[in-house]
Amino acid sequence: MSELRIERISKVFSPGISTLSDVSFEVGDREFVFLLGPSGAGKTTTLRLIAGLDQPSSGQILIGGASAAGLTPRERDLAMVYDKHSMYPHLTVFENMAYPLRLRGVADEVMRKKIGDTADILGISALLDRRPRELSGGQQQRVAIGRALVRDANAYLMDEPISALDAKLRAHMRVEFKRLQRELSATILYVSHDQLEAMTMGDRIVVMDKGVVQQIGTPREIFDRPVNLFVATFVGEPSMNTLPCQLLQDGGRWVVQGGQFRVEVPEAWINRHKLAGHAGKPVVMGIRPHRITLADSVDVGQLNVETGRIYAVETLGSETIYDVEINDQILRIWTRDASGQGLRGQIGAPIHFRVDPNGLHLFDCETGRALVHATTDFDKAA
Ligand code: ADP
Ligand code: MG
Repeated sequence: MSELRIERISKVFSPGISTLSDVSFEVGDREFVFLLGPSGAGKTTTLRLIAGLDQPSSGQILIGGASAAGLTPRERDLAMVYDKHSMYPHLTVFENMAYPLRLRGVADEVMRKKIGDTADILGISALLDRRPRELSGGQQQRVAIGRALVRDANAYLMDEPISALDAKLRAHMRVEFKRLQRELSATILYVSHDQLEAMTMGDRIVVMDKGVVQQIGTPREIFDRPVNLFVATFVGEPSMNTLPCQLLQDGGRWVVQGGQFRVEVPEAWINRHKLAGHAGKPVVMGIRPHRITLADSVDVGQLNVETGRIYAVETLGSETIYDVEINDQILRIWTRDASGQGLRGQIGAPIHFRVDPNGLHLFDCETGRALVHATTDFDKAA
């Protein structure tokens, strides 16, 4: 029984400014949940309230079904990893990791095995006899993670534990963390501003902005069915294209139009999404870069084939990202160059592309709320 339940938490540090407003979510027993949001969203504050390092202005926190109100951090028995962790400088890495276990009277043999296994996974086995000052920043961070993980705690709270590591090590740690969580059957609440970490590691993601929970769901749900523009553009890399548009009825045809950009949408699509009442209204169109496909000059004039100019090109091995200029807007197009054709031209050259109406998201212009989600392979299978 180690689930965490956050119920309608608010936190006000200074009068009139809510750092957290009515935050509710759960971390199930043995679940790996991400709290994802940009800097200043209120993630660390949430974690500190759960850990008992600070008190909420209202709302309550339950650990294993029991209210944590009045419990000290130690009584809550949650293991926390901070982004910057201070270790005991006079102790070796082994002793630093052993410290929380010795405090709890764990038998020597059990302790050695736990530390050995955890150190293996974290790639710090060769460092066990060193002292903190003899380690690089990245090594220190891994030791800090190890020290939290060797403990049998109710749950583990991690505040951006790998964001200080270099890209290669982060990629390695993403994989290892996920394995470690499975192996330990640990309940983890992991705070991050990095959507890639959340998407690749999390069982579920709580997306937070400005102290308010925006959406809770699996990585797939968050990516495919973002509830608003914030979530839609925060999750996914390269991020979703957005364009102010109008939904228009042109003769008998429905079009999503923004400047020169124009996508004709079938009436069935309008009906399916109940959009008839939105005729003439401003909307924000969203389309992920991988849902736009390149077309050739022979395709020009076909339905939903558009032309823009190449503004910038990024080649990433077998993938290419084109920034395409179309009436003062930039649309990003992500392509996998399976054909080996190479680049489609120089900066400034015209480029043709095709937009599939099933790849479109639409958002309410004023509230940012999603009106339409793109169809996915998942939908087709269902
Ligand atoms: P995150 O971890 O998502 O970057 P934080 O929880 O650290 O965000 O901070 C959220 C907001 O709360 C920030 O605007 C920050 O300045 C404010 N804040 C955090 N702690 C305090 C505090 N002790 N006193 C006043 N304001 C604070
Ligand atoms: Mg923080």
